[in-house]
Amino acid sequence: MRLDALIFGGGIAGLWTLDHLLRLGYRCVLLEAEALGAGQTIGSQGIIHSGVKYTLGGKIPGTASVIAEMPQVWCDCLAGRREPDLSPTRMRGEACHLWTTRSLMSFLGLQGARVGMVSRPRKVKPADRPAILAACRSVHRVEEPVLSPPSLVETLARRLTASLLKFDGDSLSIDHGVVRVAAGGDPLTFEPRSLIFCAGAGNERLREMAGLPPGAMQRRPLHMVLVRRKHLARFNGHCIDGMRTRVTVTWDETAGGETVWQIGGQIAEDGVGMDEASLIAHARKELHAVLPGLTLDGLAWSTYRVDRAEQRSGSGQRPEDVSVLREGGVITAWPTKLVLAPRLAERVAAELSAPAGLPPVTIPESWPRPTVALPPWEERDRPWFTDPLERPA
Ligand SMILES: Cc1cc2nc3c(=O)[nH]c(=O)nc-3n(C[C@H](O)[C@H](O)[C@H](O)COP(=O)(O)OP(=O)(O)OC[C@H]3O[C@@H](n4cnc5c(N)ncnc54)[C@H](O)[C@@H]3O)c2cc1C
Repeated sequence: MRLDALIFGGGIAGLWTLDHLLRLGYRCVLLEAEALGAGQTIGSQGIIHSGVKYTLGGKIPGTASVIAEMPQVWCDCLAGRREPDLSPTRMRGEACHLWTTRSLMSFLGLQGARVGMVSRPRKVKPADRPAILAACRSVHRVEEPVLSPPSLVETLARRLTASLLKFDGDSLSIDHGVVRVAAGGDPLTFEPRSLIFCAGAGNERLREMAGLPPGAMQRRPLHMVLVRRKHLARFNGHCIDGMRTRVTVTWDETAGGETVWQIGGQIAEDGVGMDEASLIAHARKELHAVLPGLTLDGLAWSTYRVDRAEQRSGSGQRPEDVSVLREGGVITAWPTKLVLAPRLAERVAAELSAPAGLPPVTIPESWPRPTVALPPWEERDRPWFTDPLERPA
């Protein structure tokens, strides 16, 4: 199959880039090794950041100004006013709440956010707060919509189904830009003018297979907490303590109709060195401290580990922008944040020569299509604990 571009990886980076290139008239196929979004996208919190959390020190780093333009792009797509039309995507909320603990440092941190912000947090009167934040010292609202990542991936997968192909496990080989895979046992050969690696952590191995130099990628691990219960507040927000987000809570709904919270922020950084039981015990204390309005009774707890995969930065910190490396006919791309996927797709397109004018591809229906990855709370083998140190639920 001759193509303008062959994309590897169906997380947000690969899916958005495929959508963008198809609209520009490129003949493209996306190859997925496992399931769409598996890895970071499906386990992410879905916050369409405006940059607030990067300005807590009162400065505006490069990341904040790059991200500031993104919410408008996403809001237009989510409202169906701009392509890709993401209007079927389920939203978790229109905004995030910011609240502080009682420490002076956290108050100063929030002042920093107010001074430096593009989209300024607005103070919420006690009567207008979500009930769960009623007892908190200071509550603000920031216009950062939160979407459900599994629903986002589903929406893009539906749009792009004719260009998606799932290949068999270890069947991939890359030889001088020619790609060979097996799909459902059948051998396929692709001759693309460009290879685009959008496989998150999988980019490391793809680069090795393509004979590119090692050391281009870094991983920053997280150990996230999940809690679920039938009656649990549906809210999204960050508890700010000094210059850090002590916890970040986002909610979704399980297939069984319960509410589930993904809990990240500092707690997920601290949890990297902890086992599951220790992190759950730590999370109980943290939630009790930062959300005095929350009753912990009847919660089921779990945790999941996931690595953020990005271009290596000299400092080991998060890169300030998207990363697009062009080496001959191969482009390696990392979005750095889900919210930056539209910017990444434009950068990738800018690296390609004009479409060759080949007719679009339609992958035959009999060929294997990738499914959407299960979110962490729906994974069948996941242990849930009602009492964190003793009983699996
Ligand atoms: C816990 C967590 C929370 C986050 N929350 C937010 C947030 O709220 N807002 C935000 O903007 N960002 C957030 N992020 C960052 C964001 O999730 C990532 O930047 C983004 O999802 C990365 O997307 P990706 O497509 O590059 O990689 P991934 O989502 O990891 O996708 C990679 C894809 O490539 C496939 N693949 C792997 N190897 C191969 C191969 N050899 N061939 C073909 N396919 C392959 C995988 O199966 C997968 O489908 C969060 C990240 C984490 C970890």
